[in-house]
Amino acid sequence: LASGASRASATPMMEQYIEIKANNPDSLLFYRMGDFYELFFQDAADASRALGITLTKRGQHMGQEIPMCGVPIHAADDYLQKLIALGFRVAVCEQVEDPAEAKKRGSKSVVRRDVVRLVTPGTLTEEKLLSPSDANYLMTLSRIRGGAEPALALAWIDISTGVFRLAETTQQRLLADILRIEPRELIVPDTLFHDPEFRPVVDVLGRVVVPQPAVLFDSATAEGRISRYFDVGTLDGFGTFSRAELSAASAAVAYVEKTQIAERPPLGPPERESSASTLFIDPATRANLELVRTLSGERSGTLLKAIDRTVTSGGARLLAERLMSPLTDPDPVNARLDSIAALAERPSFTSDLRDALKLLPDMPRALSRLALGRGGPRDLGALLQGMRAASAVGGLMAGEDLSQELAGAWRDITALPAVLSERLSGMLADELPLLKRDGGFIREGADAELDEMRSLRDQSRRVIAGLQLQYAEETGVKSLKIKHNNVLGYFIEVSAGNAAALTETDEAKARFIHRQTMAGAMRFTTTVLSELETKIANAADRALSIELAAFDALTQEVVAQADSIKAAARALSVIDVSQGLAVLAEEQGYCRPVVDRSKMFAIVGGRHPVVEQALRKQAGNAFVANSCDLSPIAGKGDGAIWLLTGPNMGGKSTFLRQNALIAILAQMGSYVPAESAHIGIVDRLFSRVGASDDLARGRSTFMVEMVETAAILNQATEHSLVILDEIGRGTATFDGLSIAWAAVEHLHEANRCRGLFATHFHELTVLSEKLDRLSNATMRVKEWDGEVIFLHEVGPGAADRSYGIQVARLAGLPASVVARAKDVLAKLEDADRKNPASQLIDDLPLFQMAVRREETAKAAGTSKVEEMLTGLSPDDMSPREALEALYALKKEA
Ligand code: ADP
Repeated sequence: LASGASRASATPMMEQYIEIKANNPDSLLFYRMGDFYELFFQDAADASRALGITLTKRGQHMGQEIPMCGVPIHAADDYLQKLIALGFRVAVCEQVEDPAEAKKRGSKSVVRRDVVRLVTPGTLTEEKLLSPSDANYLMTLSRIRGGAEPALALAWIDISTGVFRLAETTQQRLLADILRIEPRELIVPDTLFHDPEFRPVVDVLGRVVVPQPAVLFDSATAEGRISRYFDVGTLDGFGTFSRAELSAASAAVAYVEKTQIAERPPLGPPERESSASTLFIDPATRANLELVRTLSGERSGTLLKAIDRTVTSGGARLLAERLMSPLTDPDPVNARLDSIAALAERPSFTSDLRDALKLLPDMPRALSRLALGRGGPRDLGALLQGMRAASAVGGLMAGEDLSQELAGAWRDITALPAVLSERLSGMLADELPLLKRDGGFIREGADAELDEMRSLRDQSRRVIAGLQLQYAEETGVKSLKIKHNNVLGYFIEVSAGNAAALTETDEAKARFIHRQTMAGAMRFTTTVLSELETKIANAADRALSIELAAFDALTQEVVAQADSIKAAARALSVIDVSQGLAVLAEEQGYCRPVVDRSKMFAIVGGRHPVVEQALRKQAGNAFVANSCDLSPIAGKGDGAIWLLTGPNMGGKSTFLRQNALIAILAQMGSYVPAESAHIGIVDRLFSRVGASDDLARGRSTFMVEMVETAAILNQATEHSLVILDEIGRGTATFDGLSIAWAAVEHLHEANRCRGLFATHFHELTVLSEKLDRLSNATMRVKEWDGEVIFLHEVGPGAADRSYGIQVARLAGLPASVVARAKDVLAKLEDADRKNPASQLIDDLPLFQMAVRREETAKAAGTSKVEEMLTGLSPDDMSPREALEALYALKKEA
């Protein structure tokens, strides 16, 4: 214990506390006492600071006062939410026996308590703790050494919905694959956590990464653990998995067991995802394109926000999932597009569908809570309402010839067992309380005995009301009242002044039994009253236990149908996403893209989906549509690269981004903001846009730019799309120009990808003379009375001059500085004319040659020197041996 508490000389309760806390050193311990969760020692100090609640003291421990703070049970979710958001983990410790049992063991005996659940960011289920439109993934990463390269695998689980997936990955893709899923918690073996190779992941993800003992990842016991969880003899039915995948999946299961203790959320069987089936978007690109979050971390201004027209939380989650992981196989993309097309053709049908979907609650999350024993009557109600909404949607879709995907969804919806919804609607009351604790959620007429008990209870209450009248008359005390509290139960109360009427005569004395004397009042009971009271209490008890039993039975019936409920919920999400994208397409004038395996990239009249909507809100500013054609010449061979020049503020970045976003939208299976679009599947998308500020990590802007550019040049394939904005800007002109020059050549000759390259270096435009798939494009501007007007129009050719000075003037640079800058520019341009960069084309050998030479060397296999080098082990050599080896090498070279 951080506070130095030890068990010696502790009270029995403290002793229990200290023992439980010692088993959960990494978590704040919520220790249940009555209607509160109490925290002690260092936990109390931490929590009171984090939550802004009062720190008090309770008794002493080893001569020191024990700091304590507490949160009431009914508000615990709110406090948990705060703590989890702040990065704490919480162990919830409950009383696990009836206090009466403890008393039987002796007066000093404490009620048995145990941790029933660890609350961590990746294992939440409470409505209040979850965002409806986000998945809440717990992810594990395993690494198996042995082969030439260690095998890496990821598994991810959302216990609030039961989704369970896994995929193999590589060191190179690792971070991109993690960021694609955005886990709330990433569990890794501690050995990996401390490995310097893994450092970059921790740097990016911070405290999302949680180390756990490596045994959790043991691949030898993995299959057994997973089989036990799913209660199957073998995993063969789920597919075949690699060792790394099994290890990751079993660690995920183990972590769920570790945090949920006795409860088992209903997980779907692990589904394998091949990472090659999703578009690879490197981490820098993902951040820069602001798909689901802006660079400053906000939701508004993102692509997701701009395209989301879903009306259910499941739909919103599926849309985000699709946007995060666009596909690389045109078939499923086209299947999704077919669904949008079918709905876009039927606007009034789609609007009816939308209305029906609006009534759909979050079924998977309600189901998970019920299965985990954390559900309430409203969760049962949510499932009933969900099944009703599902049947309304199913009814609307019946007989409609939509798309294959929607037909499949319809089958899943209609497969929901109707008996279950009948049963729930027969049992549940119209108005449901949040907690099952006080009953009142089973409808009248559902259970004969329950009805009888309730009417007995209610009748007796009426009899009591009559009794009050009768006693008032008989005693002549008009103000006599029969009241109820939790300590005395029912009692008769008269003011002290009137008490004589109930105590004076023998008859009265025999009848009214004194219970309590208060400051201004006296309290009595009678045999009749206490008999009635017992009757009421018994009836109420019996009624409650009938309701609780019914709750358990209904929960069981619902959980038994978990698979079909989850399938239907998933199907409804698919329908919601499709209708949302159809509505978006109609509202924003999007078109259906042609998506195939070619290397085409032909966009006519493309727009930036986010900027366009933002401009529309400011009246008078229309977005200027621009075409982009990077298709191979005559449709064959490799795609093209455009070199884009133009003044600052001309719209270069917007154009670059819009084309990347259109590719993402097309491959997630959405219509796109364009008049027409033909996109041959992009396998990897890279971008270097804007200066992402990495200075905090001690890298200069230039260094970051080069690291990102290196990643692109090393990884882009002929199916990739590369978007580069002003590389080389961060250094001296000649350096920058040279780097940009070489990068363009490399993309053209070695990567052979499709690309957009925006640059300030006008010198680069001469490259189009030598590189056959490179063309120049420019952002058009008009000059008017010495002012520049940005047309935001992309046209062929190169910008003939830099408008930097005009822009500087617009920005308010002093007139004298502007005039001087004009002079300097004239001089520089003059010098450039005498020795133009276009001459470089003749002076420099073609880059292609350099690439070839490298390839020839590679093809020739390893050289003698390389072989010798591989054989050396410097750690095992004496200085003399090292020197001899060096001579030998020198001789060979
Ligand atoms: P650059 O990268 O050339 O400096 P940006 O792409 O940042 O220019 O665009 C500058 C401004 O022009 C932005 O505020 C943007 O809203 C506006 N803009 C860019 N492209 C268009 C367009 N096609 N239609 C209308 N406005 C545009």
